[in-house]
Amino acid sequence: MSGLSPYVAGEQPRVPDLLKLNTNENPYGPSPKALQAIRQAADNRLRLYPDNESVALREAIAVLHGIDAAQVFVGNGSDEVLAHVFNGLFRRAGRALLMPDVTYSFYSTYCVLYDINAQLVPLADDFSIVASDYTAERTGLPAGIIFANPNAPTGIAMPLSDIEAIARANPDIPVVIDEAYVDFGAESASALLGKYDNLLVIHTMSKSRSLAGLRVGFAMGSREIVDGLNRIKDSFNSYPLDSVAQVAAVAAIQDTAYLDNTRHAIMQAREVLTRGLVALGFEVLPSAANFVFARHPQHTGLDLSQALRARNILVRHFKNQRIDQFLRITVGTPEECERLCITLAEICR
Ligand SMILES: *Cc1c(COP(=O)(O)O)cnc(C)c1O
Repeated sequence: MSGLSPYVAGEQPRVPDLLKLNTNENPYGPSPKALQAIRQAADNRLRLYPDNESVALREAIAVLHGIDAAQVFVGNGSDEVLAHVFNGLFRRAGRALLMPDVTYSFYSTYCVLYDINAQLVPLADDFSIVASDYTAERTGLPAGIIFANPNAPTGIAMPLSDIEAIARANPDIPVVIDEAYVDFGAESASALLGKYDNLLVIHTMSKSRSLAGLRVGFAMGSREIVDGLNRIKDSFNSYPLDSVAQVAAVAAIQDTAYLDNTRHAIMQAREVLTRGLVALGFEVLPSAANFVFARHPQHTGLDLSQALRARNILVRHFKNQRIDQFLRITVGTPEECERLCITLAEICR
């Protein structure tokens, strides 16, 4: 176990007046209908085990995406879904998993945990994922392909046509697209699920639906892949989703109006925040997510994150060499974005 390198989550300190822009939580809170469902579920029925197949939730997800419930796998947050994906789909002795050198850092953690050989494919100089790197002829079959779209922590989205080209070029291996941030401006590959049996699309309720505390994530793909994931899940924990989480997630999925209002508010605030940061001299990567990734030519990422922290604002700073000059800043309410920009203006002056 000393060889493991666990994922380091963004910190969650309890300080009054703290502005938390470090873990991409949603400032607007969950749908009121989800909260009501939670209150209604809090009764004597909690003595019973939950539905181990999460049928109602899987059906709600299937309706939303125009697929069959048998194509939906649910888990205790998408991190758990990803763990089962790495364990079940990517553990292929002697074969490498293709993924970008800069992407969601939990992927390399799972590679270490499950002894998977990761082949890191460098992003382009503009920090976009180069689709042709994943469609080119290769000697030796990889174990699979995974990346986030929009990518984390860059926020840059890949067009659906490129995702399709990657799925088409790799029919014999799983192509896994982690769409944690897709609702903030990218196109979901769930539209391609009828065409490509090797495609698996992963979503979370933590970001656009503001339910990070509920722990619900899901994967959508072919029945065959979903069957395999269910076998892994049932060999590990038959009840990953409690009954309260299941009803709340259904209510949140069905409240599409609330999702649309809040995600559009965040997308609008993102554009204002981007302009504010550019005015302060930052370079801001084009984001389709609920965060921006930005660097300043005159201040290091570490200095800026520490100066913000001293002023009660948390942002995320990564130490990997290629991105260590950047800050990843969650898009908050317009007021929160303004507080950030005013504070950064003081620091940068
Ligand atoms: C936040 C995030 C997750 C994890 O989401 P949970 O459902 O809260 O576990 C997965 N992938 C990416 C890219 C994320 O940013």
